[in-house]
Amino acid sequence: MHRFSAHALSDLFCKGEISAEEIAESTLKRLAHCEPKVGAFLTLLSERMINRAKLLDKKRQEGKPLGKLAGVPIAIKDNIHVQGEKTTCASFFLENYRAPFDATVVRLLESEDALLVGKANCDEFAMGSSTENSAYHLTKNPWDLTCSPGGSSGGSAAAVAARLCPIALGSDTGGSIRQPAALCGVTGFKPTYGRVSRYGLVAFASSLDQIGPLTHNVTDAALVMQVMGRHCPHDSTSLNVKEEDYSSKMQKSVQGCTIGVPWHFLEQLQGGAKEHFLRALEVYKSLGASIVDVNLDLQKYAVAVYYILATAEASTNLARFDGVGYGKRSHKAALLDEVYDFSRQEGFGPEVRKRILLGTYVLSSGFQDAFYKKAQKVRALMIEQFKAAFQKCQVIAMPTAPTTTFPIGAIKDPLQMYLQDIFTISANLCGLPAISIPCGFDAGLPLGLQLLSPAMQDATVLQFAHAFEKMTDFHQKIPPLFSEGGSL
Ligand code: GLN
Repeated sequence: MHRFSAHALSDLFCKGEISAEEIAESTLKRLAHCEPKVGAFLTLLSERMINRAKLLDKKRQEGKPLGKLAGVPIAIKDNIHVQGEKTTCASFFLENYRAPFDATVVRLLESEDALLVGKANCDEFAMGSSTENSAYHLTKNPWDLTCSPGGSSGGSAAAVAARLCPIALGSDTGGSIRQPAALCGVTGFKPTYGRVSRYGLVAFASSLDQIGPLTHNVTDAALVMQVMGRHCPHDSTSLNVKEEDYSSKMQKSVQGCTIGVPWHFLEQLQGGAKEHFLRALEVYKSLGASIVDVNLDLQKYAVAVYYILATAEASTNLARFDGVGYGKRSHKAALLDEVYDFSRQEGFGPEVRKRILLGTYVLSSGFQDAFYKKAQKVRALMIEQFKAAFQKCQVIAMPTAPTTTFPIGAIKDPLQMYLQDIFTISANLCGLPAISIPCGFDAGLPLGLQLLSPAMQDATVLQFAHAFEKMTDFHQKIPPLFSEGGSL
């Protein structure tokens, strides 16, 4: 059963060929067998999943209409609220914190009869590119258990890659859906900023964060967008626009279309990543699309701009974790100031502390103009440059990450780790929709192709991704260690 993608599984359920309880039981068996090897989850929602499945079976027996995700097991990154369950953000600070309400995305998925499997591991407060910053445990890459799944949504990507469930939600502030998707050989989609509600997502950098799906294929990503891509009155940045029919728009051919490639920006690319990127472009040419050069030279500042703006926003967002309102409170504290200081010292890991310090620094008086305001100006120029580039093409193609996955513990230099996101950060800074799809293997490890479109053109990204997927079978490959066993 683990081989079925979401829409296939849902079809089987709706036709009565399998019950929701069987799906849930099979998922639990697979988890029992595979999860200890991968470590994709922080919390399993086993009982809840079985109970929901029973209710769903009853609903089907009674002939009531079934939702678009009926019977589909879905993992939720642990920075997204599921009411009554833990939201730890992979931080000791929130070790025992339980969500007081459902995130809008969770409500929407469940209203379409999805079954929630569990809360997926991630870097602490989504800060990282390897899931090594989780305060709890490592997640392994299903393609090579000594390697990182990427991050920060590493648990979500590993769960989908190891076929523990067909869909997982992640959040993407600078690449955290797309980079782990690439490193684990699955599909990861970051929607246009504002397309999907952030209500119930614990904020990291509010002007960059977006929730999106990780899936086996583009059809399932479109299906999730069909469900989640809605206006939400609880999120003031949620776009109040007409809902799109992603699934049907995705079917359009790419013949006669143009793809932009920022060749100059990609100069440094080498080895397998370069080779498979070039091959992917050949696939598009064979489909009748043409390739043009576009200038995105300002993107070389993307990492620098991101680490000023993201840390500035994080430092204010994380100020709410003060030992009073949520989560941890230090027992050592006697005075109020000590409550703040000790609770934060005990609760936050080193990467989170470093970012709060950096963010506070770039916002401090005297440095605000030199760093924060300057970074905002460069961001505005980058947005303009993308607009100009999109005059020449419908989508822009880039690799998702500069390399395949890396051994856990191998990247010690933080700047080196930050460079994992060199190709993904621009989409967040400019609010653009972007996808990563599997485009090949280098020494048995997966690589991702990234496609970006102008804001609001989410369907175009899915259309180009779908066209590639129809011509290739990379998305169907299952990591050898997980191809059999543990399911019904
Ligand atoms: N890797 C980037 C960072 O560490 C992006 C994280 C994200 O998208 N949540 O901030």
